[in-house]
Amino acid sequence: MSDFSRKSSTASRRLFLSGSAAAGAGLVAGPVGGAADAAGTAGRQAGSLQSGEDWPDGPGRTNKPQPPGDELRSILAAVDPDRVEAIVRKLVSFGTRHTLSDQDDPERGIGAARDWIFREMTSYAARSGGRMTVEKQSYVQPPAERVPVATRITNVLATLRGSKHPDRVYVISGHYDSRVTDVLNSTSDAPGADDDASGVAVSVELARVLATHEPEATIVLAAVAGEEQGLLGSDHMAGQFQQAGKDVQGMFTNDIVGSSTADDGERDPKSLRLFAEGVPTDETEAEAAIRQSVGGENDSPARQLARFVTEVADNRATGMRVRVIYRRDRFRRGGDQIPFLERGYPAARFTEPNENFAHQHQDVRVENGVQFGDLPRFCDFDYIARVARVNAATLWSLANAPGTPKNVQVLTAELTNDTELTWDPNQEADLDHYEVVWRPTIEDDWTHVIDVGRANRARINLSKDNVFFGVRAVDRTGMRSPAAFPTPTP
Ligand SMILES: [Zn+2]
Repeated sequence: MSDFSRKSSTASRRLFLSGSAAAGAGLVAGPVGGAADAAGTAGRQAGSLQSGEDWPDGPGRTNKPQPPGDELRSILAAVDPDRVEAIVRKLVSFGTRHTLSDQDDPERGIGAARDWIFREMTSYAARSGGRMTVEKQSYVQPPAERVPVATRITNVLATLRGSKHPDRVYVISGHYDSRVTDVLNSTSDAPGADDDASGVAVSVELARVLATHEPEATIVLAAVAGEEQGLLGSDHMAGQFQQAGKDVQGMFTNDIVGSSTADDGERDPKSLRLFAEGVPTDETEAEAAIRQSVGGENDSPARQLARFVTEVADNRATGMRVRVIYRRDRFRRGGDQIPFLERGYPAARFTEPNENFAHQHQDVRVENGVQFGDLPRFCDFDYIARVARVNAATLWSLANAPGTPKNVQVLTAELTNDTELTWDPNQEADLDHYEVVWRPTIEDDWTHVIDVGRANRARINLSKDNVFFGVRAVDRTGMRSPAAFPTPTP
Protein backbone atom coordinates (compact mmCIF):
# COMPACT_ATOMS: atom_id res chain seq x y z
CA MET A 1 0.00 0.00 0.00
CA SER A 2 1.15 3.51 -0.56
CA ASP A 3 1.79 6.00 2.17
CA PHE A 4 -0.88 8.11 0.55
CA SER A 5 -3.61 5.56 1.11
CA ARG A 6 -2.94 5.42 4.81
CA LYS A 7 -3.00 9.18 5.11
CA SER A 8 -6.17 9.52 3.11
CA SER A 9 -8.08 7.00 5.19
CA THR A 10 -6.89 8.66 8.38
CA ALA A 11 -8.00 12.01 7.04
CA SER A 12 -11.45 10.78 6.13
CA ARG A 13 -11.88 9.03 9.47
CA ARG A 14 -10.91 12.18 11.35
CA LEU A 15 -13.29 14.11 9.24
CA PHE A 16 -16.07 11.70 10.11
CA LEU A 17 -15.31 11.97 13.79
CA SER A 18 -15.18 15.73 13.71
CA GLY A 19 -18.90 15.87 14.27
CA SER A 20 -22.30 16.63 12.94
CA ALA A 21 -21.28 19.55 10.77
CA ALA A 22 -19.10 17.38 8.60
CA ALA A 23 -21.64 14.56 8.62
CA GLY A 24 -24.40 16.94 7.62
CA ALA A 25 -22.37 18.18 4.70
CA GLY A 26 -22.39 14.66 3.28
CA LEU A 27 -19.10 12.84 3.10
CA VAL A 28 -19.38 11.84 -0.52
CA ALA A 29 -16.15 11.71 -2.44
CA GLY A 30 -16.04 13.97 -5.45
CA PRO A 31 -15.50 11.45 -8.21
CA VAL A 32 -18.31 9.12 -7.18
CA GLY A 33 -21.12 11.29 -5.84
CA GLY A 34 -22.93 14.50 -6.51
CA ALA A 35 -21.65 16.62 -3.63
CA ALA A 36 -17.93 17.16 -3.54
CA ASP A 37 -16.21 16.49 -0.27
CA ALA A 38 -13.94 19.48 -0.26
CA ALA A 39 -12.08 18.72 2.96
CA GLY A 40 -11.56 15.09 2.00
CA THR A 41 -10.24 16.04 -1.43
CA ALA A 42 -7.89 18.54 0.14
CA GLY A 43 -6.65 15.86 2.54
CA ARG A 44 -5.98 13.53 -0.33
CA GLN A 45 -4.07 16.14 -2.28
CA ALA A 46 -2.05 17.18 0.73
CA GLY A 47 -1.01 13.61 1.44
CA SER A 48 -0.24 12.66 -2.12
CA LEU A 49 2.89 12.87 -4.19
CA GLN A 50 1.26 11.19 -7.16
CA SER A 51 -1.72 11.88 -9.34
CA GLY A 52 -4.51 9.50 -10.24
CA GLU A 53 -5.14 8.35 -6.69
CA ASP A 54 -8.91 8.26 -7.15
CA TRP A 55 -8.66 5.81 -9.99
CA PRO A 56 -10.70 3.93 -10.89
CA ASP A 57 -13.89 5.97 -10.86
CA GLY A 58 -16.99 4.01 -10.02
CA PRO A 59 -20.48 3.96 -8.53
CA GLY A 60 -21.44 4.36 -4.88
CA ARG A 61 -21.06 6.67 -1.93
CA THR A 62 -18.09 6.85 0.44
CA ASN A 63 -17.94 4.05 2.97
CA LYS A 64 -18.11 5.53 6.46
CA PRO A 65 -17.63 4.14 9.97
CA GLN A 66 -20.70 2.97 11.87
CA PRO A 67 -21.25 5.15 14.95
CA PRO A 68 -22.39 3.50 18.19
CA GLY A 69 -26.09 3.60 19.06
CA ASP A 70 -27.57 4.53 22.44
CA GLU A 71 -27.59 1.02 23.92
CA LEU A 72 -23.99 0.42 22.90
CA ARG A 73 -22.97 3.77 24.39
CA SER A 74 -24.53 2.78 27.70
CA ILE A 75 -22.65 -0.54 27.57
CA LEU A 76 -19.35 1.25 26.95
CA ALA A 77 -20.02 3.67 29.81
CA ALA A 78 -20.64 0.76 32.18
CA VAL A 79 -17.17 -0.73 31.75
CA ASP A 80 -15.44 0.06 35.05
CA PRO A 81 -11.63 0.37 35.38
CA ASP A 82 -11.87 -0.24 39.15
CA ARG A 83 -13.56 -3.58 38.56
CA VAL A 84 -10.97 -4.43 35.92
CA GLU A 85 -8.23 -3.73 38.47
CA ALA A 86 -9.96 -5.86 41.12
CA ILE A 87 -10.20 -8.78 38.67
CA VAL A 88 -6.52 -8.59 37.72
CA ARG A 89 -5.40 -8.35 41.36
CA LYS A 90 -7.67 -11.23 42.38
CA LEU A 91 -6.21 -13.47 39.65
CA VAL A 92 -2.66 -12.53 40.69
CA SER A 93 -3.54 -13.40 44.32
CA PHE A 94 -3.68 -17.12 43.44
CA GLY A 95 0.15 -17.11 43.34
CA THR A 96 0.52 -19.18 40.21
CA ARG A 97 -2.06 -20.12 37.60
CA HIS A 98 0.24 -22.47 35.78
CA THR A 99 -1.71 -25.16 33.93
CA LEU A 100 0.24 -27.89 35.79
CA SER A 101 -0.26 -26.25 39.21
CA ASP A 102 -2.60 -27.49 41.95
CA GLN A 103 -6.22 -27.89 40.84
CA ASP A 104 -7.69 -28.61 44.29
CA ASP A 105 -6.12 -26.06 46.64
CA PRO A 106 -8.81 -23.42 47.34
CA GLU A 107 -6.28 -20.58 47.62
CA ARG A 108 -3.28 -21.21 45.39
CA GLY A 109 -3.00 -22.55 41.86
CA ILE A 110 -5.04 -22.75 38.70
CA GLY A 111 -7.93 -24.60 40.33
CA ALA A 112 -8.60 -21.72 42.71
CA ALA A 113 -8.48 -19.27 39.80
CA ARG A 114 -10.84 -21.46 37.73
CA ASP A 115 -13.38 -21.66 40.55
CA TRP A 116 -13.23 -17.92 41.25
CA ILE A 117 -13.84 -17.03 37.58
CA PHE A 118 -16.73 -19.50 37.49
CA ARG A 119 -18.33 -18.06 40.63
CA GLU A 120 -17.85 -14.48 39.48
CA MET A 121 -19.42 -15.08 36.07
CA THR A 122 -22.23 -17.12 37.64
CA SER A 123 -23.09 -14.19 39.91
CA TYR A 124 -23.49 -11.95 36.84
CA ALA A 125 -25.55 -14.58 35.01
CA ALA A 126 -28.08 -14.45 37.84
CA ARG A 127 -29.11 -11.00 36.55
CA SER A 128 -29.52 -12.11 32.93
CA GLY A 129 -33.08 -13.43 33.11
CA GLY A 130 -31.79 -16.88 32.18
CA ARG A 131 -30.06 -15.74 28.98
CA MET A 132 -26.51 -16.17 30.32
CA THR A 133 -25.20 -19.58 31.32
CA VAL A 134 -21.76 -20.33 32.76
CA GLU A 135 -19.96 -23.63 32.31
CA LYS A 136 -16.67 -25.32 33.02
CA GLN A 137 -15.67 -26.92 29.75
CA SER A 138 -12.96 -29.49 30.37
CA TYR A 139 -11.08 -32.47 29.02
CA VAL A 140 -8.01 -34.47 29.99
CA GLN A 141 -4.96 -33.55 27.93
CA PRO A 142 -2.73 -36.60 27.36
CA PRO A 143 1.03 -36.08 27.82
CA ALA A 144 2.39 -33.69 25.20
CA GLU A 145 5.48 -31.58 24.56
CA ARG A 146 4.75 -29.13 27.40
CA VAL A 147 2.49 -31.44 29.43
CA PRO A 148 4.57 -34.18 31.08
CA VAL A 149 1.62 -35.97 32.71
CA ALA A 150 -2.05 -36.25 31.74
CA THR A 151 -3.68 -33.03 32.95
CA ARG A 152 -7.23 -31.77 33.13
CA ILE A 153 -7.63 -28.50 31.17
CA THR A 154 -10.69 -26.41 32.04
CA ASN A 155 -12.11 -23.41 30.19
CA VAL A 156 -14.73 -21.20 31.83
CA LEU A 157 -17.35 -19.91 29.39
CA ALA A 158 -20.13 -17.39 29.92
CA THR A 159 -22.59 -17.76 27.05
CA LEU A 160 -25.13 -15.00 26.44
CA ARG A 161 -27.67 -16.71 24.23
CA GLY A 162 -28.83 -14.76 21.21
CA SER A 163 -32.49 -13.73 21.31
CA LYS A 164 -33.01 -14.29 17.57
CA HIS A 165 -30.04 -16.21 16.12
CA PRO A 166 -28.66 -18.37 18.93
CA ASP A 167 -26.61 -20.58 16.60
CA ARG A 168 -24.63 -17.64 15.22
CA VAL A 169 -21.79 -17.10 17.67
CA TYR A 170 -19.15 -14.45 18.44
CA VAL A 171 -16.39 -15.27 20.91
CA ILE A 172 -13.80 -13.36 22.91
CA SER A 173 -11.30 -15.06 25.18
CA GLY A 174 -8.35 -14.46 27.45
CA HIS A 175 -6.17 -17.19 28.95
CA TYR A 176 -6.12 -17.48 32.73
CA ASP A 177 -3.09 -19.77 32.92
CA SER A 178 0.29 -18.12 33.60
CA ARG A 179 3.96 -19.01 33.48
CA VAL A 180 7.50 -17.97 34.46
CA THR A 181 10.84 -18.42 32.67
CA ASP A 182 10.69 -22.23 32.64
CA VAL A 183 7.47 -23.21 30.89
CA LEU A 184 7.24 -26.37 33.03
CA ASN A 185 7.70 -24.58 36.39
CA SER A 186 4.32 -24.97 38.09
CA THR A 187 5.23 -23.88 41.62
CA SER A 188 7.00 -20.49 41.53
CA ASP A 189 4.92 -17.31 41.72
CA ALA A 190 3.65 -16.56 38.21
CA PRO A 191 1.51 -13.43 38.61
CA GLY A 192 0.60 -13.17 34.92
CA ALA A 193 -1.01 -9.76 35.40
CA ASP A 194 -0.60 -8.61 31.81
CA ASP A 195 -0.22 -12.12 30.32
CA ASP A 196 -3.02 -12.73 30.60
CA ALA A 197 -5.09 -11.65 33.60
CA SER A 198 -5.68 -8.51 31.51
CA GLY A 199 -7.42 -10.51 28.76
CA VAL A 200 -9.41 -12.52 31.30
CA ALA A 201 -10.49 -9.25 32.92
CA VAL A 202 -11.94 -8.18 29.55
CA SER A 203 -14.05 -11.36 29.37
CA VAL A 204 -15.12 -11.20 33.02
CA GLU A 205 -15.97 -7.48 33.01
CA LEU A 206 -17.94 -7.79 29.78
CA ALA A 207 -19.84 -10.76 31.24
CA ARG A 208 -20.95 -8.39 34.00
CA VAL A 209 -21.82 -5.52 31.69
CA LEU A 210 -23.54 -7.54 28.95
CA ALA A 211 -25.53 -9.89 31.23
CA THR A 212 -28.46 -7.49 31.38
CA HIS A 213 -28.60 -6.94 27.60
CA GLU A 214 -30.20 -9.01 24.84
CA PRO A 215 -28.04 -9.40 21.74
CA GLU A 216 -29.68 -11.02 18.71
CA ALA A 217 -26.85 -13.50 18.14
CA THR A 218 -24.93 -15.40 20.79
CA ILE A 219 -21.91 -13.90 22.57
CA VAL A 220 -19.40 -16.13 24.37
CA LEU A 221 -17.02 -14.59 26.95
CA ALA A 222 -14.31 -17.10 27.69
CA ALA A 223 -11.36 -17.66 30.02
CA VAL A 224 -9.26 -20.56 28.74
CA ALA A 225 -6.38 -22.57 30.20
CA GLY A 226 -3.38 -24.32 28.69
CA GLU A 227 -2.38 -21.43 26.41
CA GLU A 228 1.23 -21.42 27.54
CA GLN A 229 1.40 -25.21 27.17
CA GLY A 230 0.38 -25.05 23.49
CA LEU A 231 -2.97 -23.25 22.97
CA LEU A 232 -4.65 -26.32 24.46
CA GLY A 233 -7.79 -24.82 26.00
CA SER A 234 -8.59 -22.72 22.97
CA ASP A 235 -8.07 -25.71 20.70
CA HIS A 236 -10.58 -27.67 22.78
CA MET A 237 -13.08 -24.79 22.75
CA ALA A 238 -12.82 -24.35 18.97
CA GLY A 239 -13.25 -28.11 18.51
CA GLN A 240 -16.37 -28.10 20.70
CA PHE A 241 -17.93 -25.33 18.59
CA GLN A 242 -17.10 -27.27 15.46
CA GLN A 243 -18.56 -30.52 16.80
CA ALA A 244 -21.75 -28.74 17.84
CA GLY A 245 -22.06 -27.25 14.36
CA LYS A 246 -22.03 -23.68 15.66
CA ASP A 247 -21.68 -20.90 13.13
CA VAL A 248 -18.78 -18.99 14.71
CA GLN A 249 -18.57 -15.81 12.62
CA GLY A 250 -15.93 -14.03 14.70
CA MET A 251 -13.41 -14.81 17.45
CA PHE A 252 -10.95 -12.51 19.20
CA THR A 253 -8.31 -13.37 21.74
CA ASN A 254 -7.25 -10.62 24.15
CA ASP A 255 -3.73 -11.61 25.11
CA ILE A 256 -1.33 -9.12 26.75
CA VAL A 257 -3.70 -6.14 26.74
CA GLY A 258 -2.62 -4.77 30.11
CA SER A 259 -0.12 -2.00 29.48
CA SER A 260 0.68 0.65 26.94
CA THR A 261 4.26 1.26 28.05
CA ALA A 262 7.26 -0.20 26.20
CA ASP A 263 10.56 -1.27 27.76
CA ASP A 264 12.07 2.09 26.74
CA GLY A 265 9.26 3.95 28.47
CA GLU A 266 7.42 4.91 25.29
CA ARG A 267 3.66 5.18 25.92
CA ASP A 268 0.81 4.81 23.48
CA PRO A 269 -2.26 4.56 25.71
CA LYS A 270 -4.85 5.12 22.96
CA SER A 271 -3.69 2.35 20.60
CA LEU A 272 -4.55 -1.32 20.43
CA ARG A 273 -3.00 -3.70 17.94
CA LEU A 274 -5.18 -6.17 16.07
CA PHE A 275 -3.26 -8.97 14.38
CA ALA A 276 -5.20 -10.33 11.40
CA GLU A 277 -3.80 -12.81 8.95
CA GLY A 278 -3.94 -12.41 5.16
CA VAL A 279 -3.52 -15.84 3.61
CA PRO A 280 -5.94 -18.06 5.53
CA THR A 281 -4.38 -20.66 7.82
CA ASP A 282 -6.86 -23.24 6.50
CA GLU A 283 -6.47 -22.32 2.82
CA THR A 284 -6.81 -25.27 0.45
CA GLU A 285 -4.68 -25.85 -2.66
CA ALA A 286 -7.62 -24.92 -4.85
CA GLU A 287 -8.11 -21.65 -2.92
CA ALA A 288 -4.40 -20.92 -3.19
CA ALA A 289 -4.59 -21.36 -6.95
CA ILE A 290 -7.41 -18.81 -7.18
CA ARG A 291 -5.49 -16.36 -4.99
CA GLN A 292 -2.39 -16.72 -7.13
CA SER A 293 -4.50 -16.09 -10.22
CA VAL A 294 -6.60 -13.06 -9.21
CA GLY A 295 -5.36 -11.94 -5.79
CA GLY A 296 -7.22 -11.84 -2.51
CA GLU A 297 -4.32 -12.20 -0.07
CA ASN A 298 -5.61 -9.06 1.69
CA ASP A 299 -9.20 -10.34 1.78
CA SER A 300 -9.26 -13.30 4.15
CA PRO A 301 -12.22 -13.58 6.56
CA ALA A 302 -9.83 -12.37 9.30
CA ARG A 303 -9.08 -9.19 7.33
CA GLN A 304 -12.80 -8.54 6.76
CA LEU A 305 -13.31 -8.91 10.50
CA ALA A 306 -10.44 -6.49 11.18
CA ARG A 307 -11.93 -3.93 8.77
CA PHE A 308 -15.23 -4.30 10.59
CA VAL A 309 -13.53 -3.62 13.94
CA THR A 310 -12.04 -0.38 12.66
CA GLU A 311 -15.48 0.71 11.40
CA VAL A 312 -17.33 0.09 14.68
CA ALA A 313 -14.76 0.33 17.49
CA ASP A 314 -12.11 2.86 16.47
CA ASN A 315 -13.86 6.01 17.67
CA ARG A 316 -14.34 8.51 20.47
CA ALA A 317 -16.78 6.27 22.30
CA THR A 318 -14.10 3.61 22.91
CA GLY A 319 -11.27 6.15 23.13
CA MET A 320 -9.06 3.82 21.10
CA ARG A 321 -7.34 3.63 17.75
CA VAL A 322 -7.31 0.08 16.42
CA ARG A 323 -3.99 -0.57 14.66
CA VAL A 324 -4.52 -3.46 12.30
CA ILE A 325 -1.38 -5.49 11.66
CA TYR A 326 -1.25 -7.65 8.56
CA ARG A 327 0.10 -10.73 10.33
CA ARG A 328 -1.37 -13.74 12.11
CA ASP A 329 0.75 -12.94 15.17
CA ARG A 330 4.06 -11.46 16.29
CA PHE A 331 7.44 -13.02 15.46
CA ARG A 332 8.03 -16.32 17.30
CA ARG A 333 4.68 -15.99 19.08
CA GLY A 334 1.22 -17.48 18.68
CA GLY A 335 -2.12 -17.14 20.35
CA ASP A 336 -5.55 -18.56 20.96
CA GLN A 337 -6.93 -17.24 17.68
CA ILE A 338 -4.94 -19.88 15.80
CA PRO A 339 -7.04 -22.96 16.69
CA PHE A 340 -10.08 -21.06 15.39
CA LEU A 341 -8.29 -20.07 12.18
CA GLU A 342 -7.27 -23.70 11.70
CA ARG A 343 -10.96 -24.60 11.63
CA GLY A 344 -11.91 -21.87 9.18
CA TYR A 345 -13.44 -19.48 11.71
CA PRO A 346 -12.60 -15.76 11.24
CA ALA A 347 -10.35 -14.85 14.17
CA ALA A 348 -7.79 -12.23 15.22
CA ARG A 349 -5.68 -11.16 18.17
CA PHE A 350 -5.80 -7.99 20.25
CA THR A 351 -2.49 -7.03 21.91
CA GLU A 352 -1.11 -3.87 23.54
CA PRO A 353 0.90 -1.52 21.27
CA ASN A 354 4.35 -1.88 22.89
CA GLU A 355 5.41 -4.92 24.84
CA ASN A 356 7.89 -5.07 27.68
CA PHE A 357 9.53 -8.47 27.56
CA ALA A 358 11.02 -8.08 31.05
CA HIS A 359 7.42 -8.41 32.25
CA GLN A 360 6.42 -11.52 30.30
CA HIS A 361 7.28 -15.17 30.94
CA GLN A 362 9.85 -14.13 33.57
CA ASP A 363 10.72 -15.31 37.07
CA VAL A 364 9.84 -12.52 39.49
CA ARG A 365 13.20 -11.08 40.49
CA VAL A 366 15.35 -7.94 40.67
CA GLU A 367 18.49 -7.97 38.53
CA ASN A 368 20.89 -5.01 38.44
CA GLY A 369 18.16 -2.89 39.95
CA VAL A 370 15.62 -3.92 37.28
CA GLN A 371 12.37 -5.55 38.35
CA PHE A 372 11.46 -8.57 36.21
CA GLY A 373 8.10 -10.30 36.33
CA ASP A 374 4.49 -9.84 35.21
CA LEU A 375 3.29 -7.74 38.14
CA PRO A 376 0.07 -5.72 38.50
CA ARG A 377 2.09 -2.56 39.15
CA PHE A 378 3.02 -2.54 35.47
CA CYS A 379 -0.62 -2.64 34.35
CA ASP A 380 -2.68 0.36 33.26
CA PHE A 381 -6.25 -0.43 34.31
CA ASP A 382 -7.80 2.47 32.41
CA TYR A 383 -6.09 1.09 29.33
CA ILE A 384 -7.54 -2.40 29.91
CA ALA A 385 -10.98 -0.82 30.33
CA ARG A 386 -10.60 0.85 26.94
CA VAL A 387 -9.61 -2.52 25.44
CA ALA A 388 -12.79 -3.94 26.95
CA ARG A 389 -14.76 -1.14 25.27
CA VAL A 390 -13.25 -1.99 21.89
CA ASN A 391 -14.31 -5.59 22.45
CA ALA A 392 -17.80 -4.54 23.58
CA ALA A 393 -18.32 -2.29 20.56
CA THR A 394 -17.16 -5.09 18.27
CA LEU A 395 -19.26 -7.84 19.85
CA TRP A 396 -22.39 -5.73 20.17
CA SER A 397 -22.15 -4.49 16.58
CA LEU A 398 -21.61 -8.02 15.27
CA ALA A 399 -24.29 -9.70 17.34
CA ASN A 400 -27.04 -7.20 16.49
CA ALA A 401 -26.31 -6.94 12.77
CA PRO A 402 -27.22 -9.55 10.18
CA GLY A 403 -24.72 -12.36 9.70
CA THR A 404 -22.00 -12.14 7.08
CA PRO A 405 -23.51 -13.08 3.67
CA LYS A 406 -22.66 -16.61 2.59
CA ASN A 407 -21.69 -18.22 -0.69
CA VAL A 408 -20.79 -14.88 -2.29
CA GLN A 409 -19.61 -15.44 -5.84
CA VAL A 410 -18.35 -13.29 -8.67
CA LEU A 411 -19.54 -14.64 -12.01
CA THR A 412 -16.74 -15.21 -14.47
CA ALA A 413 -18.29 -17.32 -17.23
CA GLU A 414 -17.91 -14.49 -19.75
CA LEU A 415 -15.21 -11.88 -20.16
CA THR A 416 -16.91 -8.52 -19.50
CA ASN A 417 -15.96 -5.07 -18.24
CA ASP A 418 -18.56 -5.11 -15.50
CA THR A 419 -19.11 -7.29 -12.46
CA GLU A 420 -21.91 -9.66 -11.52
CA LEU A 421 -22.17 -10.92 -7.95
CA THR A 422 -24.51 -13.48 -6.37
CA TRP A 423 -25.02 -14.64 -2.78
CA ASP A 424 -27.36 -16.70 -0.62
CA PRO A 425 -30.28 -14.95 1.09
CA ASN A 426 -29.71 -14.04 4.75
CA GLN A 427 -32.21 -15.52 7.24
CA GLU A 428 -32.69 -12.51 9.54
CA ALA A 429 -36.28 -11.20 9.65
CA ASP A 430 -35.08 -7.61 10.12
CA LEU A 431 -32.82 -7.68 7.07
CA ASP A 432 -33.28 -4.45 5.13
CA HIS A 433 -30.89 -4.60 2.19
CA TYR A 434 -27.50 -5.70 0.95
CA GLU A 435 -24.58 -3.49 0.10
CA VAL A 436 -21.84 -4.12 -2.40
CA VAL A 437 -18.60 -2.55 -1.16
CA TRP A 438 -15.53 -1.99 -3.27
CA ARG A 439 -12.09 -0.43 -3.19
CA PRO A 440 -9.16 0.09 -5.53
CA THR A 441 -6.83 -2.90 -5.18
CA ILE A 442 -4.13 -0.75 -3.55
CA GLU A 443 -6.45 0.55 -0.80
CA ASP A 444 -6.59 -1.12 2.61
CA ASP A 445 -10.21 -0.48 3.52
CA TRP A 446 -13.49 -0.49 1.62
CA THR A 447 -13.85 2.95 0.08
CA HIS A 448 -17.24 2.77 -1.68
CA VAL A 449 -20.64 1.32 -0.90
CA ILE A 450 -23.58 0.64 -3.23
CA ASP A 451 -27.09 -0.13 -1.89
CA VAL A 452 -28.38 -3.01 -4.03
CA GLY A 453 -31.72 -3.60 -2.25
CA ARG A 454 -32.93 -7.03 -1.20
CA ALA A 455 -31.88 -8.89 -4.32
CA ASN A 456 -29.34 -11.69 -4.13
CA ARG A 457 -27.63 -10.71 -7.33
CA ALA A 458 -26.12 -7.43 -8.49
CA ARG A 459 -24.52 -6.20 -11.69
CA ILE A 460 -22.08 -3.34 -11.11
CA ASN A 461 -20.81 -1.14 -13.90
CA LEU A 462 -17.19 -1.46 -12.82
CA SER A 463 -14.63 -4.02 -13.87
CA LYS A 464 -13.84 -6.81 -11.41
CA ASP A 465 -10.33 -6.75 -12.90
CA ASN A 466 -9.58 -3.30 -11.44
CA VAL A 467 -11.06 -3.28 -7.92
CA PHE A 468 -11.90 -5.66 -5.07
CA PHE A 469 -15.57 -6.27 -4.24
CA GLY A 470 -17.35 -7.45 -1.12
CA VAL A 471 -20.98 -7.94 -0.06
CA ARG A 472 -22.48 -7.11 3.34
CA ALA A 473 -25.96 -7.26 4.86
CA VAL A 474 -27.72 -4.35 6.61
CA ASP A 475 -30.71 -4.48 8.97
CA ARG A 476 -33.58 -2.02 9.39
CA THR A 477 -31.69 -0.05 12.03
CA GLY A 478 -28.72 0.36 9.69
CA MET A 479 -26.42 -2.11 11.44
CA ARG A 480 -24.15 -3.83 8.98
CA SER A 481 -22.39 -7.18 8.83
CA PRO A 482 -18.73 -7.66 7.98
CA ALA A 483 -18.18 -7.92 4.23
CA ALA A 484 -17.76 -11.27 2.51
CA PHE A 485 -15.19 -11.56 -0.26
CA PRO A 486 -16.48 -13.35 -3.36
CA THR A 487 -14.99 -16.46 -4.84
CA PRO A 488 -15.03 -16.73 -8.64
CA THR A 489 -17.47 -19.17 -10.16
CA PRO A 490 -15.62 -22.15 -11.62
ZN1 LIG B 1 -0.43 -14.90 26.68
